[in-house]
Amino acid sequence: MKALAIDFGGTHATCGLVEDRALLAHETIDTDCAKSLRAVLPQIRDTCRGLIQARGLSPHDIAGVAIGFAALVDSCANRILSTDGKYEDVKGIDLAKWIHENVGLVARIENDARMALLGESYAGVGRGFTDVVMMTLGTGIGGAAMIEGKLLHGKHAQAGCLGGHIPAVFNGRACACGAVGCAEAEASGWSLPLIVKAWPGATDSVLLRHSNVGFKELFEEAASGDQVAVAIRDRCLNVWAATAVGLVHAYDPEMIVVGGGVMKSANVIIPYIESYVHKYAWTPWGKVKVCAAELGNNAVLMGAVPLLSQDNRSQ
Ligand SMILES: [Zn+2]
Repeated sequence: MKALAIDFGGTHATCGLVEDRALLAHETIDTDCAKSLRAVLPQIRDTCRGLIQARGLSPHDIAGVAIGFAALVDSCANRILSTDGKYEDVKGIDLAKWIHENVGLVARIENDARMALLGESYAGVGRGFTDVVMMTLGTGIGGAAMIEGKLLHGKHAQAGCLGGHIPAVFNGRACACGAVGCAEAEASGWSLPLIVKAWPGATDSVLLRHSNVGFKELFEEAASGDQVAVAIRDRCLNVWAATAVGLVHAYDPEMIVVGGGVMKSANVIIPYIESYVHKYAWTPWGKVKVCAAELGNNAVLMGAVPLLSQDNRSQ
């Protein structure tokens, strides 16, 4: 099956042409400055058409367009519900209808983390497994859950996606979601600079020399022996590992796939989370596999074929 895939992130949109488990071509559009979805759509249309025509194909050769959107998505209604501030006009646009009218193909819309999990399950590290939870560690903490081979959606389209807001510290830091002590308030890209600033003894740490400290700098400075960096790194590892145990207890997976920008330090993160999960998760049946995501930035695109294949699931 050939399909088009669109990974609609916060700062970019990547359009790809896939055939089963192969990514044939892809092109990324910078959307960082785009205020509205409507302003981006002509570029999306042209890129999709270009991907089809460059291979001498026509829309008849393509099964459809699978769109992974960084938003709360009601995939049953095929609509985007909320984007957390980006693309304020999104609720007024029937994106699937627009794609059909302008690219000539049926479109399915799904939350990007769910589509990434579909991709990893179909063509990545989760291949052959039916019960997989994904955790993406980056600016925030995202995720998705697949149980008995089916993506979890839930009554309000939120099931499986809010692992980053599992409370890690009941009286902890304020989170962007309005709660306190969420995993991503305690250990994510957006909260890290705030954590560093408030850390006891931070004024003596080389971390403060970085204008915008991220996990790359944190792991590098920790490896170089900066004591504050070591302490914050270890705390973040514990937050992520405890969150992983929470996800195991919530969803009963056989595998946890960990992805996101932080996985450049996978050699430290995966063994830590794995040993913590094996020590603390209540799994009398055996041990949950903890694996790094394999597909990186292509995971969402690789979810296109399975998403379109399960098209009748909710109709
Ligand atoms: Zn939260």
